[in-house]
Amino acid sequence: MEIYDHPTFRMACRQFDLVADYLQIPENERDRIKYPKRSMIVAVPVRRDDGSTQVFAGYRVQHYLTLGPTKGGLRYHPDVTLGEVAALAMWMSWKCALTGLPYGGAKGGIACDPGKMSKAELERLTRRYTQEMIPFIGPQVDVMAPDLGTNEQIMAWIMDTYSVHAGYTVPSIVTGKPVGLGGSLGRREATGRGVAYLVNRATDTIGLDITKATAVVQGYGNVGSIAALSLARYGAKIIAVSDVRGGIHNAKGIDLFALEKHVAEKKTVAGFPEAEPISNEQLLLLPCDILVPAALERQITEANAAKIQCRILAEAANGPTTPEADEIIAQRPEIFVIPDVLCNAGGVIVSYFEWVQDLQSFFWGEMEIVDKLFRILETAFTQVVALSRKQKLPMRLAALSLGVKRV
Ligand code: NAD
Repeated sequence: MEIYDHPTFRMACRQFDLVADYLQIPENERDRIKYPKRSMIVAVPVRRDDGSTQVFAGYRVQHYLTLGPTKGGLRYHPDVTLGEVAALAMWMSWKCALTGLPYGGAKGGIACDPGKMSKAELERLTRRYTQEMIPFIGPQVDVMAPDLGTNEQIMAWIMDTYSVHAGYTVPSIVTGKPVGLGGSLGRREATGRGVAYLVNRATDTIGLDITKATAVVQGYGNVGSIAALSLARYGAKIIAVSDVRGGIHNAKGIDLFALEKHVAEKKTVAGFPEAEPISNEQLLLLPCDILVPAALERQITEANAAKIQCRILAEAANGPTTPEADEIIAQRPEIFVIPDVLCNAGGVIVSYFEWVQDLQSFFWGEMEIVDKLFRILETAFTQVVALSRKQKLPMRLAALSLGVKRV
């Protein structure tokens, strides 16, 4: 299936092949589990504010349809391709299965640069993409959510476009929408909060005092900023963070409330006065207890895996570590990896709660949501650690094999 060829898809396939070997899945069943069940590519013509028309490529991949509707984020980024989206959809299948959610995996994306588009252009882009996707999505078919470059507003436009088509309001068509439109309390915070919960559990597991721990976060967006705040609430000291425009470092700790004001004004962490500038490459190599990649895929590679200096690698992003880097990290038992399919599962878990609340038109309080979220994460974490220890498997192989086995 050459149409999916892309470094991230090859990486997801390689991970799957290792799991398939471990689980002894017969050769003739492997491709069937690996390749997406269906994929759609659409041309999305958008009128720009200057009156010209630009056509963007939009994708949606539904990887696995047996456990229920498919579920997965929608990404706006210039480098989005079919292969990348397919890899992300595959990981969603393993993640939903690992955490026991009644979903298959999906993912979508539009190759665009949202930072260079006006709000009106983004609205036209989103509405047109949704219109093109209508035969392909639905509350019982495929449910989207925010991912890199998308947010609550984008979800609200998708819901509205779909509802206009249906002739009535359909909140369950997307998750991660504003609470006033049927969104769930705690959804925006869910992924980062889950990351911090699991890091705290990992510190217990390896005997590290989180109140004396230092943390570095790459990618200060939705997931990274909430993960940083939540880690700080557990007592960790955040010493460096970054975004696409650069990073900042202060060994004494960064004042996250002051940083929040700076980001609200400047739209970037770069230039924060109470810290030194640092590049994204250097940031990953800083000595720290907790390293949280929360931006893009393939950030920890064979080039830097031997040089990272952390005790816990908490993969908030999807696919931040390549299989080549995994091999190097496997030789470094001092590093405890919380693999992406577990580490960032908080997002899809609370998305599931949002979908359930929308279908029932019965809304829960935030404490109930956080409590249910932590229970599911706790079960998954305990299962993965137990399997990893019993069979002497790397944490990623343990997590993926639990997910793949269910699928
Ligand atoms: P976001 O768009 O809110 O934030 C992404 C951040 O990464 C931004 O600060 C951006 O500037 C930064 N960034 C982009 N390119 C970078 C680069 N080259 N170097 C350093 N920083 C860079 O996106 P998000 O929703 O926080 O998603 C981040 C990651 O978490 C993605 O891998 C996504 O797939 C994953 N994820 C998100 C959710 C969710 O609920 N949003 C759930 C599970 C996994």
